[in-house]
Amino acid sequence: MPAIHRALPALRRIRIANATFQQASRIRLQPSAAAAASRPAYQLRYQHAEAQTEAEPTTSASGADHAPQEQPDRPQQKIKFTADSYPSLKRDSRFKELTEDDVKYFKELLGSESAVIDGVTKDAFEELDAFNADWMRKYRGQCRLVLKPESTEQVSKILKYCNDNMLAVNPQGGNTGLVGGSVPVFDEIVVNLARMNNVRSFDEVSGILVADAGVILQQADDHAAQHGHIFPLDLGAKGSCQIGGNVATNAGGLRLLRYGSLHGNVLGLEAVLPDGTIVDDLSTLRKNNTGYDLKQLFIGGEGTIGIVTAISILCPQRSPAVNVAYFGLESYEKVQQAFREAKKQLSEILSAFEMMDGQAQKLYAKANGARLPLEGEHPFYCLIETSGSNTDHDSEKLNTFLEHVMGEEIVSDGVVAQDESQLQSLWACREGISESSQHFGGVYKYDLSIPLPQLYSLVEEARSRFESNGLMGDSDDFPVMDVIGYGHMGDSNLHLNVVCRRYDKEVEKAVEPWVYEWVAERKGSISAEHGLGLAKKPFIGYSRSETMVKLMRQVKELYDPNGIMNPYKYI
Ligand SMILES: Cc1cc2nc3c(=O)[nH]c(=O)nc-3n(C[C@H](O)[C@H](O)[C@H](O)COP(=O)(O)OP(=O)(O)OC[C@H]3O[C@@H](n4cnc5c(N)ncnc54)[C@H](O)[C@@H]3O)c2cc1C
Repeated sequence: MPAIHRALPALRRIRIANATFQQASRIRLQPSAAAAASRPAYQLRYQHAEAQTEAEPTTSASGADHAPQEQPDRPQQKIKFTADSYPSLKRDSRFKELTEDDVKYFKELLGSESAVIDGVTKDAFEELDAFNADWMRKYRGQCRLVLKPESTEQVSKILKYCNDNMLAVNPQGGNTGLVGGSVPVFDEIVVNLARMNNVRSFDEVSGILVADAGVILQQADDHAAQHGHIFPLDLGAKGSCQIGGNVATNAGGLRLLRYGSLHGNVLGLEAVLPDGTIVDDLSTLRKNNTGYDLKQLFIGGEGTIGIVTAISILCPQRSPAVNVAYFGLESYEKVQQAFREAKKQLSEILSAFEMMDGQAQKLYAKANGARLPLEGEHPFYCLIETSGSNTDHDSEKLNTFLEHVMGEEIVSDGVVAQDESQLQSLWACREGISESSQHFGGVYKYDLSIPLPQLYSLVEEARSRFESNGLMGDSDDFPVMDVIGYGHMGDSNLHLNVVCRRYDKEVEKAVEPWVYEWVAERKGSISAEHGLGLAKKPFIGYSRSETMVKLMRQVKELYDPNGIMNPYKYI
């Protein structure tokens, strides 16, 4: 990568990213033990950065010692059962309770000890807990049976049996979902797809990947990379989440700006309906205008109408030239200006534009004992990524852009990654926020689509709300530590996180339904990319009309007349 300082001698304030910010980011995605137990050791992108940075001592521009600081201990609070946290939720009495005979059937069907975690005929509490508890440590079910099929036929037989016997089912991928959809509420059987993890085919010419639903996103991307392609989705949990889970949640992520949503990229899928019917729509065609596009119902269906067992997806060519820049800015107005300029000047090579407020970056640094890339404090930060096919061409464009935003004082300070490890370290500052937000006890997460001009006002209003109602403060007396805002600026998608020392009903009451009303008044969406799950189910009316909800219920009843699929959630 050419040195920007040589290309831009006038821009003294743009410092080339160097070892100074490559402090050890100690953050780790803490996947459920369920995912950990059943997946290869793929790690988050920012963990890769850590490995590189810990190996080499770092020196700051000012000569200060950048040795990693002690990471504060993370309090491990006991997770309450969802049924206790939400006493208004009652187990549906139509569902049968599991018996020894049921377990016997599943053991014979799956034919392997490791494919069944049986808490019905024996004590498997510890092992099951990993599948019962969600990533946020907010929801905890009471499932006593986990099934891990390894073929579509096994999934079909499992669902048929469950449907015939009125046994409720909770499909589960990597269990990284953020709305409580991936774990049971009561004693639903968890059907975990981790053992269905084969790539079925990759077409070098078209870039179409066909793979089992249980393939981990990182693994899918690595496979595409071997063929010079890229998986069109990327997100902070890529080391644990599964492509079936991604499709089931219609995950958005970091590069939606460039590659678009899964509704466009997924070309076909294979799924199993509750009655055991295998839906083979694993098309690899880009064009197929023959009737209703029913696969779209499974994309974002969150396991409520069937289990996705395989997908085919269009993977774009991987860009050989990737640049990442990280800026400090003095106001949200400037962030918007920078975004406008980035679109104008970087146009087709712009692949990500992420916004983080100062509090989000401070929290990231605090949770990880890390030092941020820029000296001094800035109210806002942006991360811009470009991906293109010609290094010289892209660098020239980026330099012109940098010259402009620095010259016009749209950005106050910035760094540009010079190599892969710096690039990873800059990304870590963005991707590490989600993990950091729940590091100190808990987090209430709101994932919202809001028109860009109003997007950040919500964070400011939420902050003053917690300040005035006495729930937020510096000591342990206050449940709320801070309110942070960050997100996919390019998609008008704000992540509002209420960072807590502990989960507290008063906090929830202060923010809900206020936050949804706020968003609805501005015609936004109460869930931009995380879905509905259990957390957002009661609030769908803020984003969807009665007619839409009625139509959705009809779809649910048509596909899952017994209501066994992921009950208590979605709609
Ligand atoms: C650090 C971190 C960063 C994240 N960043 C983003 C982000 O940028 N963008 C984003 O959109 N999300 C993000 N998420 C949320 C989460 O990673 C995504 O929702 C992901 O797509 C979930 O995949 P999973 O395999 O973990 O699914 P799970 O969490 O296991 O399940 C999620 C839902 O899908 C259903 N499901 C899972 N697999 C299947 C299947 N095969 N068939 C049918 N239903 C199924 C489950 O029942 C559940 O309702 C992030 C999460 C974390 C922890």
